[in-house]
Amino acid sequence: MERRIEHVRDLLKGTEVVASEFFLSEEGLIFTRRYRSMAHNLKGQPELVCSVCNQPVLIAGTKDQEFYFKHFREQGDCPIKTKGDLNQTELDRLRYAGVKESQKHLQLKDEVEAALLVDSTRCSKVMKEQVRRSSLDSKLWRKPDVSCDFMGRKMVFEVQLSTTYLNVITEREAHYHDDQTFVLWLFADFDPSNLRFVEKDILYANHGNAFVFDDEARKRSKAEGKLILHCHQLMKRGGIANDEWEDTFVDLADLTFDTSEYRAYLTSPELRRLADDFKDYWLNNSSMSALDRYTKGEEFIERLALEGLNFDYELCTVLNALYSLKSGQMVGYKYSSDANGFLQLANVILGSYPKYVHLFFWAMKHYGWSGKVRACNKGDRLKEKFDAIRPKLGNPEFKLPEKYVPLIRLLFPELPQKAFGMKMI
Ligand SMILES: [Zn+2]
Repeated sequence: MERRIEHVRDLLKGTEVVASEFFLSEEGLIFTRRYRSMAHNLKGQPELVCSVCNQPVLIAGTKDQEFYFKHFREQGDCPIKTKGDLNQTELDRLRYAGVKESQKHLQLKDEVEAALLVDSTRCSKVMKEQVRRSSLDSKLWRKPDVSCDFMGRKMVFEVQLSTTYLNVITEREAHYHDDQTFVLWLFADFDPSNLRFVEKDILYANHGNAFVFDDEARKRSKAEGKLILHCHQLMKRGGIANDEWEDTFVDLADLTFDTSEYRAYLTSPELRRLADDFKDYWLNNSSMSALDRYTKGEEFIERLALEGLNFDYELCTVLNALYSLKSGQMVGYKYSSDANGFLQLANVILGSYPKYVHLFFWAMKHYGWSGKVRACNKGDRLKEKFDAIRPKLGNPEFKLPEKYVPLIRLLFPELPQKAFGMKMI
């Protein structure tokens, strides 16, 4: 029989399947494949796609029980169907481009997985193409390209292909959202001046962010021993020629993990600049005159308020403590910048600032001070004191005021969610 679709691609293996050869296989094997590829199609995670148009295909049969490949859903024209428009050479060129894309996709998954595996202090449960069942209903599952736990957050990485359509994107995002999992769509390359429809779908849904794992990101990931992504941010839409873009290389810890919609994105450059300006002010204000310090402080209160962030002088203690832990240099305190100094600081927080205890001890752990402080003379005494109040940490007097959380998260985005006393996700 003459089949219209002679070549399909196996997206999981990156290989091409030739109809006239494959359908000579033993019947059981073909039926197994038919069933499995249909299940994948229905999940929006096609396994077999047409080599020419990249659309999912299914295995169909004629009345005489002869097998053939058929487009699964008509989502666009396939050049095969309008034969005559393209000659064989042109069809082969399309096929070849598809094979290349498919191999690139596999390579990209491997490299993302490898970068996460190297970063073992922050990433655990790194897996490739592992079935993730919904914690709400174990019958619901998805198979993300790569998944991991990043600093206590469940994350999946989906490589964006030309076979990915909006319905697939929204459906998968809904699934992961229900499962309190952050999904990051990755592009192999990205050209802001020539965006495809589906790229815009992802971009607009994700606060104008597109994450690209390109050659430079690959190089940096290898050099830094962690996953680095090239992030393009659409700043202002002004028609293709006038769009304003900013791009930067990001570590996952630079991202804002927004649990209200389970999206991870890079905070806008204005906010990042504001955070940097604030840090400069905070670390250097001791050399300012009292009046300058006050005027500048009032200025920041206004600038931050415009972004919906609360700052007042009540935060001095905790900001000094966090900047000290982060930089390893005492800020605003006269203690020595070593483990003994941090032990004294910890005692002060423990004794006088109950609402910052939880955050401070997490930060001490995160910035690598816990062990050093414990090893000090009298370090054990601190642990005893902390253990004594640990059961009370849920009480209202130990609660970090909610209104300060957004600012602290902006200034110290690397701190884990747990540091803020929020539900572990
Ligand atoms: Zn096709």
